[in-house]
Amino acid sequence: MSVLEILLNLNRKDSLLATLRARRARIEREFNDKVAAARELERGMRRAVAAHSALEARVRGEERAVAEEEKRLVDRRKALSSFSSYKVAQGAEKEIEASSRELRAREEGLLKGFEELEGAQKIRTEAEGAFAESKSALELLAVSGREAIAEIDSEIGIIDRERTIILGELPDEPRREYEKVVKKHPSDPVAAIQGGVCSGCRMSIGPQAVLSVRRGSITRCPGCGRILHATDEEGHQAVEG
Ligand SMILES: [Zn+2]
Repeated sequence: MSVLEILLNLNRKDSLLATLRARRARIEREFNDKVAAARELERGMRRAVAAHSALEARVRGEERAVAEEEKRLVDRRKALSSFSSYKVAQGAEKEIEASSRELRAREEGLLKGFEELEGAQKIRTEAEGAFAESKSALELLAVSGREAIAEIDSEIGIIDRERTIILGELPDEPRREYEKVVKKHPSDPVAAIQGGVCSGCRMSIGPQAVLSVRRGSITRCPGCGRILHATDEEGHQAVEG
């Protein structure tokens, strides 16, 4: 196998590795996005729970206070009959009426409070439902994501071992050259000359460079630095020209 054939072989492995690594990164990114979204829903749920609990404590407290006041008013009305003086009784009755009006107003406020509480309960239930849903979706995704990543990792392991073997077939010089280029162009360190241009960066490649490629020497694109290879057609054209 010629050096260039080995390089092309390596290029295929590195292409595959780059694709697999990108796929792996995408799965992780999607999962992390979903985790962030679930956290946001959790924060929303906690806010809704806190708001509902605080409102509930306030409304229930007012409910008890209103009930006690109601009882006190009943007792005060009962006590009216025990007054011997009509005038005193009349004065007390006026005070009771005033307290009673105040109490009606508080009861109306309490009714509004109950409506608000119902709204807060609804928001809380919805927020709890949304979080629970996203949490179970996330758990499923974690399982399938882990499986997919394990599969990709084992594929990467196999290809990486093959790559190491192929790399070992190269003489020192082109190997060093290749390893330099693959750092910069991990998915396609070797580019074809197509229609007179580098398929990696579209820079036009002069006939001298085409000839040098054709002779089998390691030639790098002056534009992007990729190792060039000529398709048969390209090579013949250059030789004939
Ligand atoms: Zn190029």
